[in-house]
Amino acid sequence: MNYKIQVLKVGGVKNAPLSEMLFMRGWGEYIDLNVYVWVILGADKPVIVDTGIKDINLLTGRSGKPEDSSGFEIHKWMQSPEEKTENALRSIGIDPTDVSHVIVTHLHYDHFSNISLFPNAKIVVSRKGLREAVAPKHVEIGGQVPRDALCDLLRRPSNLIQLIDDEEEILPDINVFWIGGHTPADQAVSIKTSKGKAVITSDTVFLYRNIEENIPIGYFYNLEECYDAMKRIRNEADIILPTHDPEVLLRHPKGRIA
Ligand SMILES: [Zn+2]
Repeated sequence: MNYKIQVLKVGGVKNAPLSEMLFMRGWGEYIDLNVYVWVILGADKPVIVDTGIKDINLLTGRSGKPEDSSGFEIHKWMQSPEEKTENALRSIGIDPTDVSHVIVTHLHYDHFSNISLFPNAKIVVSRKGLREAVAPKHVEIGGQVPRDALCDLLRRPSNLIQLIDDEEEILPDINVFWIGGHTPADQAVSIKTSKGKAVITSDTVFLYRNIEENIPIGYFYNLEECYDAMKRIRNEADIILPTHDPEVLLRHPKGRIA
């Protein structure tokens, strides 16, 4: 089965430190990032990968602080009203209550916080990642998981939660596989399209530069897993879709991947 993929920009980050994206490089440089929701069309109902940002004020409250007296603001989260996930989905005719599956690439705020928008969807999450989020070995890693979204998840009926161990087919020709690297929850999503296999990387590949130049991200919990993930994705994917690269919209005009 060949699916269509539409990417929606649901926010952005201004002046993200490049060294967060590229391991041991880009000191003192800053780039802008996009936040995306990915829509997979072709099954009976839409499937969504990642949920976007539930409340931008919660993010701007702990970012966008001037780094020095010049007033230069680093890591400033942005979202216009049209970029709110619900509005972005409705702009392409999708009712969130109609979504069958929400595949969460990992449990950070910009990917996971909005699961309550999809009351009828099965939420697809890494089992290992969820365990680490609930009771992390190191709070410095697990503590970044939004607790309200975690509560939303755990309050769902069990038939609306799907925990993934290493690898699983969610629907025919839509597969999820665990990669780790960025967090213990990171999983990639592969989707068959008429242009070949597309892989949504999760934040273990922030940018095309990561995978095209084999430079791991700077923001990781396990460096070796980053290299393993990039190797596997490079081998398997015909179309690579990094989760924060603005260039996705240049390589795929209007966000139409396939
Ligand atoms: Zn992210």
